[in-house]
Order: sequence, then structure tokens, then C-alpha cells
Amino acid sequence: MDYSTYLKNYPSKEGRFGKFGGAYLPPQLVPAMDEITEAYLTICHSSQFINELRRIRREFQGRPTPVYHCEKLSRKIGKTQIYLKREDLNHTGAHKLNHCMGEGLLAKFLGKKRIIAETGAGQHGVALATAAAFFGLDCTIYMGEVDVAKQAPNVARMKILGANVVSVKDGQRTLKEAVDAAFADYLENYKETIYCIGSAVGPHPFPMMVRDFQMVVGYEAREQFQEMMGFLPDVVTACVGGGSNSIGMFLPFINDPVEIVGVEPLGRGEKIGDNAASMTYGSEGVMHGFDSIMLKDSSGEPAPVYSIASGLDYPSVGPEHAFLRECGRVKYDVATDREAVDAFFKLSRYEGIIPALESSHALAYAMRRAKEMDAGSILVNLSGRGDKDLDYVIEKYGYGEDFKDFD
Ligand SMILES: *Cc1c(COP(=O)(O)O)cnc(C)c1O
Repeated sequence: MDYSTYLKNYPSKEGRFGKFGGAYLPPQLVPAMDEITEAYLTICHSSQFINELRRIRREFQGRPTPVYHCEKLSRKIGKTQIYLKREDLNHTGAHKLNHCMGEGLLAKFLGKKRIIAETGAGQHGVALATAAAFFGLDCTIYMGEVDVAKQAPNVARMKILGANVVSVKDGQRTLKEAVDAAFADYLENYKETIYCIGSAVGPHPFPMMVRDFQMVVGYEAREQFQEMMGFLPDVVTACVGGGSNSIGMFLPFINDPVEIVGVEPLGRGEKIGDNAASMTYGSEGVMHGFDSIMLKDSSGEPAPVYSIASGLDYPSVGPEHAFLRECGRVKYDVATDREAVDAFFKLSRYEGIIPALESSHALAYAMRRAKEMDAGSILVNLSGRGDKDLDYVIEKYGYGEDFKDFD
């Protein structure tokens, strides 16, 4: 395949990445999605939209975020040099704001008054509530009652930012019910509302839009690395939940002689329900409005998933990832909970950077690869900071006494 024209050709008009992607929607929503697609494809080329987004990224988000050379960590491992793209320094502490600000600006350009979403751990809810406050939009976030109780600090953040947090009391009272409630709201209110998805998933045009907004990460990183070193990294890697930080990091390198690796959570192990490694153990199916690779139980329903990193426990993956693996352009590997926690403590201890547990999966992979390669360079997308994970990590692993030293 000729990757120099990849971005022009994918997705197709119908939102397909090969056989993956598409839009599987209730008929009432088809016109609403078509409206968003059409508007986005026009607006994203207008200089007014591009300039405004650029200004927001610079003045509000603090972009560009730096690329950082982990000299001490690299030296501990061997000869391979590890570099980080510091999305933990993006405003609100993770990459999610990149697409939320894009979605908010699109809502503004479309004259919508309200943005809504579901959230699990609350990270997407906080990023979207931030965008809503910035743009002066009404914001409703649906969250399962169980998650509301577990994620009190994020619920507080959303409320302080002015969002209306709806606690969903149906069924298991977690993410799935929150998605259903948010969709029901959208069906009723799509005239004045935009549904803002939290990753590069869902029906077309969301995987394309989220990818486009996240590609700022990879474009910046490529240019910064090249400027620092005079060449490109040998390996580029990122963690994969729904796949937004990774797709944004990967695509700007797609036509380069660079190995690209997505890292999924292997959690506690290989058994179904113990991990969320959709690409490794899943098969093709349709879920949440798109065709991709997903983890299914014996009756074909989305399987229960688990990861220590709540941002990674999604039973499917963005359709473009499924396609890029089929093309052979991107490889997918895994890291366990324990490897991620080890990377979490080592980066904190040796570099003074406390990473999100999600990002720690990509770092764990990089540390493993660095040891094997024993030369060259690896660029890791550090998708977020770990402040949100401290209470949990301390409760389960103390202050990392078991993890500090290299063997
Ligand atoms: C949500 C989240 C992820 C996973 O989402 P993707 O869409 O796969 O990027 C990764 N890292 C952090 C810090 C997150 O908050």
C-alpha cells in the first residue's frame, strides 16, 4: 500500500477503513450524523476554524507539549534511548482535551447550544466539561451511579466546571448504561445538541474527527524529535483503549520508515474478563455503531473487560486500528497490570514524572523493547499524568518498594 496518500483515501465517504468502521445507527439519527459529517468536512478546511483551533491550543491548552529524553531511565535499561511526548502537560493533564476542544469548537460553529457525553472513570467528562466552560455551552454528562460513587473527585471537577452530571441508575449502573442514557438524550435533542464521543470509536464521522483532532500530537512530536535528533525514532508507541491518543500519535509517522506499535492492557492475564486486549483476543463484530475488532462472550455480546487503567477497559477498539493491523502497518502488543505499575514507579523515581496508569502500559512496552533492541530510539506517547491514580496505587502497591530497582 502507498501510505503517502493514506490520509486522502481513508476513511471512505461512508466512513470505512477497509471493511471496518461505517455507521450502524437507528434511522432517526442518520440525518443528524450526516449533518455533522457534512459540516465537519466543510468547516475543518476553513481558515477561520483552523486559526481559532490553533489559537486555543496555544493559549488555552499550552501546546505544543514538549518531547523529553529519558536519559536516566534509558541508561538504567541499556543503550536504547526512550523519549516521551508529554501529553501529561496538556491542560487538564491528558490528551483527551485535544478532541474535546475540537468538538466544542465544531458545536460553536454549528450554532449548537449543548454538548453531551457519557463517561466511565470521568476523564472524558472532565475534558468535555472543560471545553463546555471555555465555549459557554451547556453540558450534560451521563455517568453510572456506581462510577459516580467511585470517582468522586472527577464528579466534583465536572460540577465545578458547570456541567450537569446525571447519575444513571439502570442495570449495572456503569458505563454501558451511561452510553444508553446519553444516546437516548441525543435522539430526543439532536437539533440543539452534539454528542461528543470520548475516543476514536463510534459511528462515522467520530473516528475520523477524533483522529484528525488528535493528530496534532504526532505532527508536533515528529517535528520536535526530528529537530532534536536530526532523524526519526526507530519505534513509536502508545497505549490503546478506544484508540484516540495512539491514532493521533501514529498517523503522522505512517509514511516513514518507523515501526509503530499499539499497546493494549493484558490486565491480570489471558482469560476473558481479565484483560481488555481486544486486538489480541477479539474478533470482528459490530458494537456501539461501528464495525471493528471486539471482545465477545459466548453469546456474542460485548465481553466483560478489566484493566488496572480504567481508561483502557473498553471491549473494542477504533476501526482504524483494526484496519492498520490488517494492512500490516501497525503492530499491537500487550502489557500486564504489573508491568504497567512497574513502569509507573520507575518513571516517577528516575525521571520525576508520575504517569497515568494508561500511559504506563506504553512505557512498560518501551522499557521491554529497549532492553531487547539495545540500540536506537523509542518515542512513547505519554498520554496523561498519574495524579488521578495515586490513591489507588498507594492502596494496592504502597509506595512501590517492590518496583524501584532494575534487576
Ligand atoms: C482515556 C485515556 C486513555 C485511553 O483512551 P484512548 O482513546 O485509547 O487514547 C489513555 N490515556 C489516558 C491518560 C486517558 O485518560
